[in-house]
Amino acid sequence: MATAITNDPMLPQPYSVREVAKETPDTFTLSLKPENAVNKTSFQPGQFSMLWVFGIGELPISISGDPALHDRLVYTVRSVGQATHSLVNLRVGDGVGVRGPFGAGWPAEAARGRDIIVVAGGIGLAPLRPLIYQVLQNRKNYGRLVILYGGRSPRDLLYRKELATWARNRETQVLVTVDYGGLGWRGHVGVVTTLFKYTRLQPARSVAMVCGPEIMMRFVVGELETQGISQDDIYVSMERNMKCAVGFCGHCQYGPYFICKDGPVFQCERVRKLLEKYEI
Ligand SMILES: Cc1cc2nc3c(=O)[nH]c(=O)nc-3n(C[C@H](O)[C@H](O)[C@H](O)COP(=O)(O)OP(=O)(O)OC[C@H]3O[C@@H](n4cnc5c(N)ncnc54)[C@H](O)[C@@H]3O)c2cc1C
Repeated sequence: MATAITNDPMLPQPYSVREVAKETPDTFTLSLKPENAVNKTSFQPGQFSMLWVFGIGELPISISGDPALHDRLVYTVRSVGQATHSLVNLRVGDGVGVRGPFGAGWPAEAARGRDIIVVAGGIGLAPLRPLIYQVLQNRKNYGRLVILYGGRSPRDLLYRKELATWARNRETQVLVTVDYGGLGWRGHVGVVTTLFKYTRLQPARSVAMVCGPEIMMRFVVGELETQGISQDDIYVSMERNMKCAVGFCGHCQYGPYFICKDGPVFQCERVRKLLEKYEI
C-alpha cells in the first residue's frame, strides 16, 4: 500500500527539516529527511522536486545535495517571494511535502571520460553541485573538471568553503568572479565569461554544463562556441513557472517542450533558437 502511494507523482510525501544553513543574506540550504521509511531519496544531478510548504503552496526547487547520500534531500533556496520566504524560514522538525524527483538532469553518465566544464551564475551553482560531487567521487571516470562561477558580490557567492575544497582536487580548476568586489575582495571582478581567458579548454574532449540567469547563459553559450565546443556538448538548465511538474498542465511550455519533463536540463542544440529569443 505504502509503495503504491509513493509511486503517485502528484502526491506529496512527508518530509521534515533536519537542518537549515545560511549561505548568503537571502539564500539558505535546507536538508530534509523522509518521515516515511519507504521514501527513496535517490535522484539524478540536475533534477528538481516540488516542495509543498503547508498553507502556502508548492514550488519547484532543484536538488543541491550529494546524490550518494540517500537519507536526505538537500535544497538551496533564495528568498524572492511568499513561498520561498516561508521555505527558508522553516525550523528544524517542521514538515514539508515533497514530490519528485522530476525532469531530465545533467548527462553525468554520457560525459564519462570527458573534461567537464561547469559554468554557473548566482544560485545556478545549486543544481550543478550534485554533478560536482558525482564527478569528484568518481574522479578517475572523468578528465579535467573546470568550474567557472560568477556572483553579484562576494557576499552573494554560494558554498565558498566548498569552492576552496573542490579546487584542491587533482585535475580540478575553480575560478570565481564577482560583478562588484568591494573592500576586502582580492579575487577577480567581471562577468563570468571573463574567466575563460584563465583556463585552457580542450574543446573536442569537453562537455559544458551551464546554469544561471538566461542572459548569462546566452553569453556563456556564445563563449563556449567561440572556444570550439559544439552545441551538442553544451547543456543548459532552464527555469519556468510550473504547477504539475509531470507535463500535464502546460504552465512551463517552452516552444515545443515542457521544461518539467523534457528539461530542465537541455542539450543546447535543442533550445538554442529559443534561448536567443527573449520572453518565451
Ligand atoms: C526547475 C526549477 C528549479 C528551480 N530551482 C530553484 C532552486 O534550486 N533554488 C531557488 O531558490 N529557486 C529555484 N527555482 C525558482 C523557484 O521555484 C521560484 O523562485 C519560486 O517558485 C518563487 O516562488 P515565490 O512564491 O517565493 O515567489 P513569487 O512571489 O512567485 O515570485 C517572486 C519573484 O520571482 C519570480 N519568479 C517566480 N517563479 C519563478 C521561476 N520559476 N523562475 C524565475 N523567476 C520566478 C517572479 O517573477 C517574481 O519576480 C526553480 C525553478 C524551476 C522551474
